[in-house]
Amino acid sequence: MPYAQAVTSLSGEPQTAFSDLGLRDSLLRALTAQGYEEPTPIQAAAIPVLKTGSDVVGQAATGTGKTAAFALPILDGLNHSGDDRKPKALVLVPTRELALQVSQAFHAYGRDLGARLVAVYGGAPARHQIDALKRGVDVVVATPGRALDLIDRKALKLDAVRTVVLDEADEMLEMGFIEDIESILALTPADRQTVLFSATMPKRIAALADRHLRDPQRISIASKESVADEVPRVRQTSYVVTRNTKPAALGRVLDAEDPKAAIVFCRTRGGVDELTDQLKAQGYQAEALHGGLTQEQRDRVMGRLRSGATEILVATDVAARGLDVDRLTHVVNYDLPVSPEAYIHRIGRVGRAGREGVAISLVEPRERRLLAAIEKLLRGRIPTAPIPTAADVRSMRLQRTSDAIGSLLVDDLARERLESYRDAVEGLLDENDVLDVVLAAFAFAHEATQGVAGDDGDIDFNPPQEPKAKTGKKGRDKDRFDGPDKNGKNKKKNRLDVPTERLFVSVGRRSGVTPADIVGALTGETDLRGRDIGVITVHDSYSLVEVPDKLARKAIKDLNRCTIKGNRVKVRLDRGR
Ligand code: AMP
Repeated sequence: MPYAQAVTSLSGEPQTAFSDLGLRDSLLRALTAQGYEEPTPIQAAAIPVLKTGSDVVGQAATGTGKTAAFALPILDGLNHSGDDRKPKALVLVPTRELALQVSQAFHAYGRDLGARLVAVYGGAPARHQIDALKRGVDVVVATPGRALDLIDRKALKLDAVRTVVLDEADEMLEMGFIEDIESILALTPADRQTVLFSATMPKRIAALADRHLRDPQRISIASKESVADEVPRVRQTSYVVTRNTKPAALGRVLDAEDPKAAIVFCRTRGGVDELTDQLKAQGYQAEALHGGLTQEQRDRVMGRLRSGATEILVATDVAARGLDVDRLTHVVNYDLPVSPEAYIHRIGRVGRAGREGVAISLVEPRERRLLAAIEKLLRGRIPTAPIPTAADVRSMRLQRTSDAIGSLLVDDLARERLESYRDAVEGLLDENDVLDVVLAAFAFAHEATQGVAGDDGDIDFNPPQEPKAKTGKKGRDKDRFDGPDKNGKNKKKNRLDVPTERLFVSVGRRSGVTPADIVGALTGETDLRGRDIGVITVHDSYSLVEVPDKLARKAIKDLNRCTIKGNRVKVRLDRGR
């Protein structure tokens, strides 16, 4: 680019704190409330530059935290001097969804500043948008077409604008907004600050920047060339899943992989806590690790991970910094990291000293570009696989049991140990067929080590094309936003006439259990009453029971402490329903 300026190359683990960026206290408080622990690389690099008033060309994809990178300096620079009603900042975005998303981000960060915002986009009546503009706003987030429309109607005035942001500029160009953008820019003051963010930098973007930006600073999360050499030997897989199927997808992947010790990365403290609760409710030994814990709590969590009492650690990047646990076999990017380098830091926690390491990434459709940036840094592809089906999980579990038994047969020391069981087995063979005995022994070993898979149906994990312009009127949307349905399951009404969850109980006919025993345990040991209990099916080695979803988690907790017909039971949500 002809305006080449300092290229800021960012390392994977920025050590800047939000408090180092000179932002107002009220913004810092809002960031803490969001659960952000430290700036992402693009934020650490862009915020100080934007605060100086410089123009900026930023190369960053969705998922890198770019919205806050431009929103925070804009909010920081607002000063409410009396009743000036004209907007001081204009953010142009390609789609209505992004307009809403960006304005929500402004709203969240600026909540204590009293910043006035409006999102202006097509496909909705203009009236409310015009009313808001008349009342006075500080920041307008707009799609170019509607912005021009409101300018024509004299509702949107741009002569007081100090900062213009072109967000996802490559998308806007692709959608044919170039002329609209140029017309809008022509109506803003010539001495404005102009900020351009784009995931890619084709020539047309460079030309646009050349025409409208003055001595821009170029900031990218460009990769260090040498990093690819540091990539550990790790089996890497990505799964593309929608946000609302993520928890269920994670459960499936964990069941398929059967990690000895895994670290699951989330972006925020709130995300860590929520996911930890969901995993616990599904019966996993999971613990949270984030910056909100005291040193003592942190030590306790780490101790349990090292001893094997915890199999899954759910953590933010900051909390996991410096974490060095030999037992770790899997790194799971539940949320993708905010920069390609951070990905390499994360996966560097496994696959050490010749041991096998596995890295799994759940990628939302809109984050594909960030995945591509990671692949570029790795100089290799991360294969994308479909989420394993329930049948895949069952066969992987069976394979693990077969492998374990097979390994006893080829290990001389183990064979000696086997001899000690000879009399007992011969006793069984006196009265039974050999194959029957082997089958029973296999089943016993399998269920003891792998648990029993429920006959779970299959969730459709395949993401549709990234949903555009959902109207919120359809029943489907209702399902998506219907309360704490974090597993993305469809809560059909059944004969209980309320949304239900199905519980998996690890005892069945073979332990002499009948539906009456399940009812007895539920009514005796939990808060459920008879009328709260839906369909019960007792299978050979497990049972399934439907209960109101609001009561499910508590019931699981209570039941996990009790016995049914003298058997200790394991109860969890029936995954993959
Ligand atoms: P964006 O790239 O702006 O679309 O942001 C992607 C996601 O990252 C959003 O959900 C933000 O809320 C989140 N995010 C942005 N900055 C941070 C941060 N410093 N720490 C944690 N999460 C962040």
